[in-house]
Amino acid sequence: MADPGLPRPKPTYSYWQHAPHVLADTQSSTLPTDTDHAIIGSGITGLAVAKSLLERDPSSKVTILEARTLCSGATGRNGGQMAANAGEEYSHLAQTYGPQEAGKIIKFTFRNLEKMRELVEEQDVAEVSEMQQLKKLRVFLTDGKFRDFKESIARLEGDHPSMKGIYTIIDAATTLQEYGVHGAAGAAILPAGTIWPYRLVTRVFSALLEKYPDRLTIEMNTPVESVEYNSNIASPMTTVYPYKLRTPRGPLRARSVVYCTNGYSGHLLPRLRGRVHPSKGTMTVQDPPKSVPNQGSSISWGFHYPPSYDPASKRHGYGLYYLAQSAKTGYFYFGGENTRVDESVSADDSFLAEHSVSHLRTVLPQFFGQKGSAPWHLMASWSGVMGFSSDGLPLVGRLSSALTGRSGTGEWIAAAFNGYGMANCLMSGEALARMILGENVDDWLPESYGLGERRLRETLTVPKAVNALKAKL
Ligand SMILES: Cc1cc2nc3c(=O)[nH]c(=O)nc-3n(C[C@H](O)[C@H](O)[C@H](O)COP(=O)(O)OP(=O)(O)OC[C@H]3O[C@@H](n4cnc5c(N)ncnc54)[C@H](O)[C@@H]3O)c2cc1C
Repeated sequence: MADPGLPRPKPTYSYWQHAPHVLADTQSSTLPTDTDHAIIGSGITGLAVAKSLLERDPSSKVTILEARTLCSGATGRNGGQMAANAGEEYSHLAQTYGPQEAGKIIKFTFRNLEKMRELVEEQDVAEVSEMQQLKKLRVFLTDGKFRDFKESIARLEGDHPSMKGIYTIIDAATTLQEYGVHGAAGAAILPAGTIWPYRLVTRVFSALLEKYPDRLTIEMNTPVESVEYNSNIASPMTTVYPYKLRTPRGPLRARSVVYCTNGYSGHLLPRLRGRVHPSKGTMTVQDPPKSVPNQGSSISWGFHYPPSYDPASKRHGYGLYYLAQSAKTGYFYFGGENTRVDESVSADDSFLAEHSVSHLRTVLPQFFGQKGSAPWHLMASWSGVMGFSSDGLPLVGRLSSALTGRSGTGEWIAAAFNGYGMANCLMSGEALARMILGENVDDWLPESYGLGERRLRETLTVPKAVNALKAKL
């Protein structure tokens, strides 16, 4: 499996970042020589790890290293959806991991979304992050997809009666009459939210810097090129800080290394390549005509269809479109994939396939009954790199020597949220920080997110990843 490489220096311009935060390019005049915890990546996961370490370990120093500008990865380029996927996935999860673990995963994702809301309140950023608590309308475009979904939800509610009532199923006629959505075989409504994640994350980083000026350093434009381990008992420096992170600004020594590197993880951790792979997503912001109502404070949308492949164009349809509307401007934030596999299994967000954008511009008006209308005004379009794992679950835990190739035990990872970061990252980051500090999180972190030997042998494997990709063709 290919090396995803370092994050590309000049990514496409994400609308979420159109007013860069004052800390976007922040860095110390010279890179510190050492730190307790070196966190690689300044997305929401890196933020969550840093926040928890700073709050729970009053003496430790934390350094964030980011290849580009603050929060310029997936978190600053996503669809703004705060929604869980677990209901749709339940049947598969229960079959693979058993009903108890599947239920734990679902509860984790819903609790994570609550934690997002709590963070917004704690930091008093509801206004600036434009967070909306609303209902998500999951629309199923084929009978088969709708049937599978209903079966999954029935199984979820049967196994976990406490989850009854989260999803409300509605038929095609109601989807059209009450929600104005065309082309549905049926739909479901569930509690969800939307947010401007870049603004949330950059604001919280800024608050952390203010609160912990002597313990936190944020080093932007500082790609980590390699990690080395050297515990030489003859040298006090290497005993305390056995890791050396090489960067173009010089080396940084650290006690522990925390990879919050998402789709790029395989660059520094070659043994993860294939088990975790980058997946490039496309986002647009489209301005609808005035006849389309602004429902941004009450509804967000997901459109599900069977993954498809067109041999003539070699393009595959990923199976999902996601849509949020700004309550302030009425703009639609619309994303989803219809592109060539080689373009989507890519860590290069410095370009955007034009056909992916025109596909999104053609599809969106159709959902609102405007098939054949002129495309809506395109405000912005960009790409972003997600991290996918071969078994569809995040990786949260300590990296063994088998994965790092190094003998130390101070390397940790929280990555690969398979397109559902807002429902996973915050608590995964917190769990990782607590694990680093020696706390037990088994009560609430799904065991299947861990890096146990069985997972590495059976599901988090390159052949599984290849099969999952082949299934799309
Ligand atoms: C187009 C798109 C749409 C999405 N839509 C949604 C959505 O609507 N809802 C949802 O829940 N999720 C969505 N996601 C997924 C979600 O955004 C991610 O799961 C989440 O943001 C991951 O956060 P992270 O902090 O783990 O990774 P990132 O935000 O990607 O952060 C990783 C950071 O690590 C840095 N980095 C990597 N390697 C190095 C290195 N060697 N040295 C220094 N820095 C490095 C990168 O530059 C990057 O900034 C979407 C993602 C994309 C791309």
